[in-house]
Amino acid sequence: MRFLPVFLDLQAGPVLLVGAGDLARAKLRLLAAAGARIRWYATDGNQDSGGLSATETAQIEFATGDPLIADLTGIIAILCAGAGDIGPAMSARAKAVGLPVNVMDDLQHSTFIFPAIVDRGDVVVAVGTGGASPVVARRVRERIEAALPARIGDLASFIGRWRKTIHGRISEFPLRRRFWERVVDGPIGALVLAGRSDQAEAALKDISDPSAFAGANAAGEAEGRVTLVGAGPGDPDLLTIKALRALQDADVVFYDELVSPEILDRARRDASRVPVGRRVGKPGIGQDAINGLLIDAAKSGQRVVRLKGGDPFVFGRGGEEVEALRQAGVAYSLVPGITAGLGAAAQFEVPLTFRHEALRITFLTAHKARDAETVDWSTLTDDKMTVVVYMGMTAAASVRAGLLAAGRSPQTPVGVFARVTRPDARAVVGTLDRLPGLVEQIGGGPAILIIGDVVAHSAPWRHQELNDVISQLLEAAE
Ligand code: SAH
Repeated sequence: MRFLPVFLDLQAGPVLLVGAGDLARAKLRLLAAAGARIRWYATDGNQDSGGLSATETAQIEFATGDPLIADLTGIIAILCAGAGDIGPAMSARAKAVGLPVNVMDDLQHSTFIFPAIVDRGDVVVAVGTGGASPVVARRVRERIEAALPARIGDLASFIGRWRKTIHGRISEFPLRRRFWERVVDGPIGALVLAGRSDQAEAALKDISDPSAFAGANAAGEAEGRVTLVGAGPGDPDLLTIKALRALQDADVVFYDELVSPEILDRARRDASRVPVGRRVGKPGIGQDAINGLLIDAAKSGQRVVRLKGGDPFVFGRGGEEVEALRQAGVAYSLVPGITAGLGAAAQFEVPLTFRHEALRITFLTAHKARDAETVDWSTLTDDKMTVVVYMGMTAAASVRAGLLAAGRSPQTPVGVFARVTRPDARAVVGTLDRLPGLVEQIGGGPAILIIGDVVAHSAPWRHQELNDVISQLLEAAE
């Protein structure tokens, strides 16, 4: 991000506009409509402001002379539109005195740029692309326009009028925020959005105990809770709507190593983000310590999200955390996520069940060779069963040995699917006898192993077959 969106107070002073023609007049219209005072140097001497209303024209101060030596005292920003060579020169002056300056269509000489704007009264949305593409910015704006309720600005002003009063009646910040969330999301907000502000006003006045309305506990404090959220295998678009809502609501997010930065980005801006992940081979902070953090945060009244890769209840230790929360008397809920095995299956087209070929699925973990040795492989001999192995990379040799000893054919199709649903996802397919070698080819985890005849239907298998046919044809041709 090169340009940070900020909002300029137009009441602080006049804006200096330098330039002529349609470009300058378009900026005049924008500034006048926003309520700015404008000192305009019409560089071609034509001071026709082009169809502005009388009030708008009254906001313009027509200046003459050389803008390059103009007095800049009190000016809050400088704009050049249709100013020709004066633009870069004006920019140099502005920079010398530290004034924000925009030279239209000239990023090099601009220290601020104009966003595409959605204007709903007190609610203003600015959309920027760092100057790269105004067309993209406009398309984004159109989508936002379509998504925002028409009276969203009224809702903001309504709250603005009541802010101080409520501040005086609820001193705790988290509780106050919840008060407003309940207003915005509940019937009062709906009344404002429906154009019935009078009724909304009356309903708000009727709230005798604002803290209780905000959901405070008996001691008048905000009630904390923990939501265990499955983040899916990596692609942020695979978050459920509930997961997104929980992230948008969170005060604090405790996340695992496997959670991608793109997913963390979807959390509420102000939420604190705490990594509590473990890496294979590196100790993390330990499960008891994690449980303690969750409990303490919830007890201090925060809305806690415990964000886990895939699904919390699939090899995610969600069960242990829920148990600890229950024992500590902390309220919790769960949001399931797409587990890595299902992400791999969808991305690489591995039908985990298939007509008469695959009638069962087993999800198992083979964290280390030692774990793999404790797996009872004899229960996995059914060749109509698809076996999905988590954490199986380092134990690949033991997984192969176990399945072969149990009587599975060495020719059973297997796939290694790494970093699934992420931009650098990769798949390698082959047969069970070659499993450890396939794992070595994948280039780093996390990876899922899928073992069973269904792998022969997968996209990488089909491509491989096609490649084999092509090589055979080429060989034959030689
Ligand atoms: N709760 C998670 C699993 C955690 S165990 C889930 O439901 O997916 C960690 C193991 O999950 C890794 O060793 C790997 O086998 C698998 N895994 C997690 N994310 C993955 C990804 N993006 N691609 C491939 N495998 C992944």
